Amino acid sequence: MVDIRTVGVIGAGQMGSGIAHVVALAGYDVLLHDVSAERIAQGLALIEKNMTRQVSRNIIEHTAMDAAMGRIKAAPELQSIGTTDLAIEAATENEETKKTIFRALGPHLGADTILASNTSSISITRLASVTDRPDRFIGLHFMNPVPVMKLVEIIRGIATGPATYETAVSFAQSLGKTTSNAEDFPAFIVNRVLVPMINEAIYTLYEGVGTVDAIDTAMKLGANHPMGPLELGDFIGLDTVLSIMNVLYEGLADSKYRPCPLLTKYVEAGWLGRKSGRGFYDYRGAVPVPTR
Ligand code: NAD
Repeated sequence: MVDIRTVGVIGAGQMGSGIAHVVALAGYDVLLHDVSAERIAQGLALIEKNMTRQVSRNIIEHTAMDAAMGRIKAAPELQSIGTTDLAIEAATENEETKKTIFRALGPHLGADTILASNTSSISITRLASVTDRPDRFIGLHFMNPVPVMKLVEIIRGIATGPATYETAVSFAQSLGKTTSNAEDFPAFIVNRVLVPMINEAIYTLYEGVGTVDAIDTAMKLGANHPMGPLELGDFIGLDTVLSIMNVLYEGLADSKYRPCPLLTKYVEAGWLGRKSGRGFYDYRGAVPVPTR
């Protein structure tokens, strides 16, 4: 097993900031990278806000928060991530974006650096193939919100070596997470089951079977889900939901995974859910209001 002390996180959005948050709280030094200093600053602000909430709820001590915040450093240059023991990519769910990042990082990587992707659906084997170290490449799929959700799905690519796997499992456990192994097929386990359900809820809306409120209320009270599927889609990000459906549709070549045209329309409008202020609900006021 490789000794992990420093962790690089690429992408400071909702997932990257959540990963940096739990990794720093667990005592690792973190370098956080995104496309601009402004994005990194937004990620750091989100981490601070979420840790402050944890302090106010007595989940963590104030001293632990201060120590963790002190362990996270902004990394405006991608190459500095190459100096870390484990680099976790959590950029936008787009295969070319991710491959471009791994190709650019390649020449700057330390000999032993392990590479991981937090992708929700894209083949780990394909992402690993653009690097010089497919044996040291693995899927570490954290759940949203990272500080709250207990699971990390672990996905081995075809070439992932046993030492990389052991290191990844013990790293996830050191963060207080439980792991579940998934084979490297489109969307793995969680999103293979969850995202088609969200897509089906959007079809239910599109076909006029129910309103946003009726669908979410039905699934919360009728199936005991903590969030309705449309609210959950907004929470994940509708661009991410659409990308996952496209990966399932193309990767499994089965029409049952076709993305709902209404989902595509929301994404084309830039109505991506919570992160953009509007999706199946409008979040710009005091309470979320259904947009249909
Ligand atoms: P997000 O839109 O909140 O953040 C993505 C970030 O990546 C943005 O800050 C963006 O600027 C950055 N980025 C884009 N291109 C980049 C590049 N070339 N270099 C560095 N940074 C770049 O998205 P998110 O929800 O944080 O999702 C990130 C990843 O995590 C995706 O692969 C997604 O599938 C996965 N994921 C998402 C969820 C979820 O519920 N949202 C859950 C598990 C996994």
